[in-house]
Amino acid sequence: MPPRGHLPRSPADPALERDMDLLDTPGEALFRAEARAWLRDHLAGEFACVAGAGGPGREHEDIEARLAWERLLGEQGWSCLGWPSQWGGRGATIAEQVIWNEEYVAANAPARLGVLGEGLLGPTLIAHGTEAQKRRFLAPIRLGRELWCQGYSEPGAGSDLAGVTTRAVLEGDEWVITGQKVWTSLAHLADWCFVVCRTDPEAPRHRGLSYLLVPMDQPGITVRPIYQMTGTSEFNEVFFDGARTPVEMVVGKVNGGWGVALATLGYERGVAMLGHLLAFRRELEQVTELARRTGRAGNPVLRQRLARAWSGLMVMRWNTLRALPGIDSPGGAQASISKLFWASWHQELGELSMDLLGADALAWLAPEPGSGSPVPSYPLRDLHRTFLFSRAETIYGGSNEIQRNVIGERALGLPTEPKVGR
Ligand SMILES: Cc1cc2nc3c(=O)[nH]c(=O)nc-3n(C[C@H](O)[C@H](O)[C@H](O)COP(=O)(O)OP(=O)(O)OC[C@H]3O[C@@H](n4cnc5c(N)ncnc54)[C@H](O)[C@@H]3O)c2cc1C
Repeated sequence: MPPRGHLPRSPADPALERDMDLLDTPGEALFRAEARAWLRDHLAGEFACVAGAGGPGREHEDIEARLAWERLLGEQGWSCLGWPSQWGGRGATIAEQVIWNEEYVAANAPARLGVLGEGLLGPTLIAHGTEAQKRRFLAPIRLGRELWCQGYSEPGAGSDLAGVTTRAVLEGDEWVITGQKVWTSLAHLADWCFVVCRTDPEAPRHRGLSYLLVPMDQPGITVRPIYQMTGTSEFNEVFFDGARTPVEMVVGKVNGGWGVALATLGYERGVAMLGHLLAFRRELEQVTELARRTGRAGNPVLRQRLARAWSGLMVMRWNTLRALPGIDSPGGAQASISKLFWASWHQELGELSMDLLGADALAWLAPEPGSGSPVPSYPLRDLHRTFLFSRAETIYGGSNEIQRNVIGERALGLPTEPKVGR
């Protein structure tokens, strides 16, 4: 899942808005004004309640209203902006997509539930799907009517994705799937899952995989929530026990799923990054305000860390802007550098906020009878959630160690890692 910090319900920062606007061409400024006005007009009335809802540690919030919001975005042409117009998108430029993401965060709009369909599966189908797959799946994604989840990781295959053991066997005109996926974000809400599974156990690891589209609502699939430190559950274990999907639900060639799976990962193109930085900036402002309020801004060590956090934020912003023209060029180390930097930065911000809170950082255990969670729930502040969820950010989307390996190979030209035991 892409990251999104919870935003305080405060008006947008005018200085930051000016900073954003300065970079726009006249056409982009018009687009920004249109996006800003639409968000202002529609995050009102029945949708006022979704402002700021969802995001890491809070994905359980306001699901029905956020689903209605997804549909509204789709119906009014504010989802899938980067998709070609042939498939209902706007064919928006990278700059326009960045602007939309910035305005979305600045408006305190809710975390998106359709992000895996829009950002990952949709572009994969546009590039690799059959005409029938595109006709069947793209419109419901765009219109917010079908949600997707990503079935890649397994208990024995995460960073080493080619090690998946979930099997799919062709029986008549259906694939029959057996195995287990894990950490599957939003699987409890999803209608469909894109699943990487092994269709030729005899072939070398990367060559025996296929990429299947599997309906979630069927007897062969069990979704079991995994409760996190936040006491909430955003991801799941997914068990496939003879689950079925029609033979034509394979994307790309049978046993050619590795290339498709990598293509999907490549679509996380970073257009949302400036929006995330806006959210990070608001969190840092909260932390700085906390330091002032508690008198800890006078502590020399904490002051150093606050200034360091601010500098890190500026470095991320300037670097993201500098990289924008090539933000969608696959294969480089840019995306790995950015992921490594922001995930580590955000984790440090979480640690700093706990240090600033001092004894107040301790959470009071308050088990909630009937909540279903085996984890006692804590009355958490936003800063607690940032701290706890940021622990996951150096893992998902490629862990820090994996990003450093990519940087080592692609930027430094180091020899590839020895493949021990593979
Ligand atoms: C919040 C969250 C949401 C997620 N959502 C999804 C989802 O929707 N769908 C999905 O399929 N997966 C999802 N994941 C799973 C995520 O992709 C994996 O956790 C990640 O790829 C790491 O795999 P792993 O957990 O199996 O750890 P492992 O790969 O077992 O790694 C364990 C440790 O070893 C290190 N390591 C592994 N290989 C190397 C190496 N070659 N060199 C150096 N160090 C190495 C890792 O960095 C890590 O520290 C999610 C994870 C999180 C935390």
